[in-house]
Amino acid sequence: MSRIIDVLVVGSGLAGLTAALAAAREGRSVRMVTDGMGSLAISGGCVDLLGYAGGQRLDDPWSGMNLLPPEHPYRLLGADCVRAALDMLRQCAAAQGWPLHTAASPQGAPCNALLPTIMGTLKPSYLLPDSLDPAALTRAKRVLVASAHGLRDCRPALIISQLRRYREWADKDFVPLLLPSPLGATHRSLSALDLARLVDKPQGRDWLVQSLRKYAGQCDAVLLPPVCGSRADVSIWRELSQAVACPLVEMLSIPPGVGGLRLRDALLHELRRHDFELVENARVIRATSDGRRCASLTALAAGQERQHVARAFVLATGGILGGGVELAPGSARESVFKLAIPVPPDVSLWSEPEIFGSHVFSRLGVRVDGEMRPRDDSGQAWRDNIFFAGRSIGGYDFATEKSGHGVALATGWQAGRMAAATAGKSAEPASGEQL
Ligand SMILES: Cc1cc2nc3c(=O)[nH]c(=O)nc-3n(C[C@H](O)[C@H](O)[C@H](O)COP(=O)(O)OP(=O)(O)OC[C@H]3O[C@@H](n4cnc5c(N)ncnc54)[C@H](O)[C@@H]3O)c2cc1C
Repeated sequence: MSRIIDVLVVGSGLAGLTAALAAAREGRSVRMVTDGMGSLAISGGCVDLLGYAGGQRLDDPWSGMNLLPPEHPYRLLGADCVRAALDMLRQCAAAQGWPLHTAASPQGAPCNALLPTIMGTLKPSYLLPDSLDPAALTRAKRVLVASAHGLRDCRPALIISQLRRYREWADKDFVPLLLPSPLGATHRSLSALDLARLVDKPQGRDWLVQSLRKYAGQCDAVLLPPVCGSRADVSIWRELSQAVACPLVEMLSIPPGVGGLRLRDALLHELRRHDFELVENARVIRATSDGRRCASLTALAAGQERQHVARAFVLATGGILGGGVELAPGSARESVFKLAIPVPPDVSLWSEPEIFGSHVFSRLGVRVDGEMRPRDDSGQAWRDNIFFAGRSIGGYDFATEKSGHGVALATGWQAGRMAAATAGKSAEPASGEQL
């Protein structure tokens, strides 16, 4: 057993990182125990707030919140809470040299931007790093669409043919370009992360600038995979855009998620300014409680068990893929405390034939109140010092709504603040009994 800390956060996805920041900014000591990196490692790094609701694509995500069901996390929290969480992320990311901003409508109101993807589709998203800002593409007549030899699944011709299906893109003049591989013609399998790491170094930046410069001069904007550096450092993208003398716009790519890793980098650096400790490759396997409070969690790492005693706990363990929700035929449960999650008894009702439809399994998760405390069957908070955040919470479907990081952020912010307040009021934790 180690020192008693105020807030223990389980999981290092966006929900866990946000909860840790929110608690640390309240002056609490925070420890994060995590098994893996979470879905930031595969995400594009933009914050989808709410792209679709009521069967419509939303330009203004705030207007769509009233269309959501009452159990949706945004409805439980309220719009002011969601705005405050977005503000905190903006402040923390900017402090680390990774500014995030929101697009503006023609009337000047904040709105969703449509971001091009490596598949040639457009995804609505709300909070973006500068390198993903599509404004230069919207204005451009002639767009250079670039990839590199050996880069997996990034084909300029396919991207262009798909983008042309959108009315606002149909009349643009596209120029496809396949850059020579920086690792030689025989190197046949590169990811965007490989190239971004290369571009972290001066010789990698030279390669990109020299390869793009003579074509970019004839175009108004360059659309390229997320290769402008692997770190949360906007100066790399700025330097490249200046050297190429044309606005560079990164597209959302397939995993590994360069954009998500940059965001993770920024948040971890920000956390290190506080009383924060990270325990990686550790899986929480057990809990003890003393009456209405959780007393400790035990984690297993490299075959060794370690007990973590804290005054309050945030569970940000993700959904089915993250490890926070476990499924068995006919039942579902939360993975640490084994809380039952209600499911339709007939398994065939868990999904529907339409692959991109709204499946029941995608909304499964722990039911919480507005303070992110899990509720028992009678509607009462199940424990006083346990809070949930992110995809482990039920009642929403990030894939069809395009609300993934938005919900992770807002619920993480609320859970972190609530845990900090609870820890502030709490006496010394007692030794508990196994839950
Ligand atoms: C391919 C892909 C791309 C996406 N891109 C975007 C995007 O660009 N923008 C956007 O807004 N949304 C995106 N999303 C959705 C978004 O990533 C998620 O909805 C959201 O980030 C979930 O965050 P989370 O922190 O709740 O969970 P996760 O990111 O899944 O994190 C869960 C964490 O808990 C840890 N964990 C689980 N169980 C335990 C345990 N027992 N002990 C210790 N640790 C444990 C895991 O290791 C992990 O660190 C994307 C999703 C996918 C699948």
